[in-house]
Amino acid sequence: MATFGTLSDRLTETFRNLRTKGKLSPADVDGTVREIRRALLDADVALVVVKDFTSRVRERALGDEVSKALNPAQQVVQIVNEELVAILGGQQRRLEFAKTPPTVIMLAGLQGSGKTTFAGKLARMLEKDGHTPLLVAADLQRPNAVNQLQVVAERAGAAIFAPQPGNGVGDPVRVSKDGVEYARQKQYDTVIIDTAGRLGVDAELMKQAADIRKATNPDEVLFVIDAMIGQDAVSTAKAFQDGVDFTGVVLSKLDGDARGGAALSVASVTGRPIIFASNGEGLDDVEAFHPDRMASRILD
Ligand code: GDP
Repeated sequence: MATFGTLSDRLTETFRNLRTKGKLSPADVDGTVREIRRALLDADVALVVVKDFTSRVRERALGDEVSKALNPAQQVVQIVNEELVAILGGQQRRLEFAKTPPTVIMLAGLQGSGKTTFAGKLARMLEKDGHTPLLVAADLQRPNAVNQLQVVAERAGAAIFAPQPGNGVGDPVRVSKDGVEYARQKQYDTVIIDTAGRLGVDAELMKQAADIRKATNPDEVLFVIDAMIGQDAVSTAKAFQDGVDFTGVVLSKLDGDARGGAALSVASVTGRPIIFASNGEGLDDVEAFHPDRMASRILD
């Protein structure tokens, strides 16, 4: 995975230096923590996350678990690993399904973040698991968005509910509600609502997303965020958390050469779990997110 390449190299180098030491002095620990801090900041990880992370690592590295360890350097690496898993959300979190179908999954995020592409990927994953998803085209902002979802639905072999002339055109809240009702009638067991995004956060966009949320009472609201967004990750994620209150995160474009900061900041600053990671334009370029596996990849 291209993302995290530099961060991973820098941490490997830091740990290599650490391993040359036998017992660790407080100065060794401080030096290591400083290098980790710089590597994370250079990877665009949000300052609040870096501070929190490094202070926890430092406190533990200066404590008994390291001084009494057979291999103190290895113990520090283990602590970094555990704390990395913690900022990535700890346990894996799976999608939650409604007790009574249909399960409603709403997607939100900035324009270009990868929502429509992910809608197709999700439909495909659900189908593979034996579900019957219905895609709902509630992005009526961009002229081509409905067509784009139609193409995605066709590729995924999934059904789509799209506004017909005279049937809620221009009203994404109505289309979303009607889509859920249609799923209920036709017995689709999951509904994926693709909503509109803007290039930047704006009040009208948030209100529309919040209105769709209120009207459809989704089981999951997934915030799709482009890993390439860098330092803007935190403010964007917080704006969507305040405006729509999402239940989980989808990281997209992890195949790009982003520095990984968004990925490492978002779960921690919002307290919401990352559920999926997208890593390509193809329909199968997506996987369930495992905090421990991601941490291992970074520290490999
Ligand atoms: P939306 O505006 O949020 O619906 O975003 P789209 O789904 O239209 O995606 C915007 C662009 O990013 C498109 O060109 C997609 O092909 C591309 N894209 C989406 N997800 C990924 C991904 O995981 N990796 C890469 N490399 N490109 C992606």
